[in-house]
Amino acid sequence: MADDLFNSFMNGPDEQGRFGIFGGRFVSETLMPLILSLEEEYNRAKDDPAFWAEMKDLWAHYVGRPSPLYHAERLSTELGGAKIYMKRDELNHTGAHKVNNVLGQILLARRMGKTRIIAETGAGQHGVATATVCAKFGLKCIVYMGAHDVKRQAPNVFRMRLLGAEVIPVTSGRGTLKDAMNDALRDWVTNVRDTFYCIGTAAGPHPYPAMVRDFQSIIGKEVRWQLAEQEGEGRLPDTVIAAIGGGSNAIGLFHPFLDDPTVKIIGVEAGGKGVDDRIQHCASLTGGRPGVLHGNRTYLLQNEDGQIQEGYSISAGLDYPGIGPEHSWLHETGRAEYVSITDKEALEAFQVSCRTEGIIPALEPSHALAHVMKIAPKLPSDHIIVMNMCGRGDKDVFTVAKHLGFDMSDTEEGRSFEE
Ligand SMILES: *Cc1c(COP(=O)(O)O)cnc(C)c1O
Repeated sequence: MADDLFNSFMNGPDEQGRFGIFGGRFVSETLMPLILSLEEEYNRAKDDPAFWAEMKDLWAHYVGRPSPLYHAERLSTELGGAKIYMKRDELNHTGAHKVNNVLGQILLARRMGKTRIIAETGAGQHGVATATVCAKFGLKCIVYMGAHDVKRQAPNVFRMRLLGAEVIPVTSGRGTLKDAMNDALRDWVTNVRDTFYCIGTAAGPHPYPAMVRDFQSIIGKEVRWQLAEQEGEGRLPDTVIAAIGGGSNAIGLFHPFLDDPTVKIIGVEAGGKGVDDRIQHCASLTGGRPGVLHGNRTYLLQNEDGQIQEGYSISAGLDYPGIGPEHSWLHETGRAEYVSITDKEALEAFQVSCRTEGIIPALEPSHALAHVMKIAPKLPSDHIIVMNMCGRGDKDVFTVAKHLGFDMSDTEEGRSFEE
């Protein structure tokens, strides 16, 4: 299954940051020294027990890890098939998995003596997580956000400001996440001395995809021992499922299981209004093709001329036009399966989670849950599925209300969310 370069899926990437033909480091000469010094520091930190001891302490006391592994009993019964577990990363501080990665990168920045942190954000979730950890450590924080997104995501812009971050609206290109990432890379080159670029997903030039994955892998590592605790020594999940924007929460759940051939791995992309209609979705693997963006080769949404197409999804956190290179590799080798789920299916799953488990999920993991709902009824009751509940739905209730035709415009909050 794997090509000769890797006898183990967990050993990727190679020294050039390549996962098969994907990944790598497509950056300007000026950026190269920055990337290399980051890689060097990361390699040092990775093998330093003191670094992981600090992470562990903050995971426990600041983030609230380990997050529970929860047997969704009513949901399993209602679907009438597989036994479903939810990995509750929505209970983390800031309400999603993003903080796992941000914490790792900020600790690295501190080791490197960097005092100015820059980040890109789309829906604002990564911006909020970065602003949060910067506030905790008293670091200057600058967040690049597409001008279009600044308007759409006013509550998160305000959160970032409350946390002391400066939000810079990006007007280049279409004023969305892709453009914000380009501007952040430009800032980094210009402010070499004191600046650290904290990327929000498992994408970008090497070493970011591997580094972000390593920080998020705490999710899958916890699942391993938590499931053994609940189901018996040595019991592995039969299927693991997660939603994919850039792919960081998914690779965090998947990676510790890559070399366990009995574990089926499924990534769920945002199918928007349907994958046949080219620009009405964000399914890079199911509806895109390989190209180079943000310093790495991976599957991208693009037109015939290779121009990047903006994606669409009901869930703002999934509308990145690319996908982390490791997923492209897992897709090509067949180690993982990638499917897509439409807005409509995700909305249905969102409501099922609320009603059967008392958990209001974010719209992103609702995509993963929708796929669980498709496959679980056909599986035997001793088949264990673990899905990543990677974010909570507080941020999404207004979007969902609108789609369900519930009028919230008369409330104070409703007005501020309307825009
Ligand atoms: C940002 C976000 C995502 C998408 O990012 P990945 O890197 O694919 O994990 C998914 N879910 C939630 C809750 C998010 O905030």
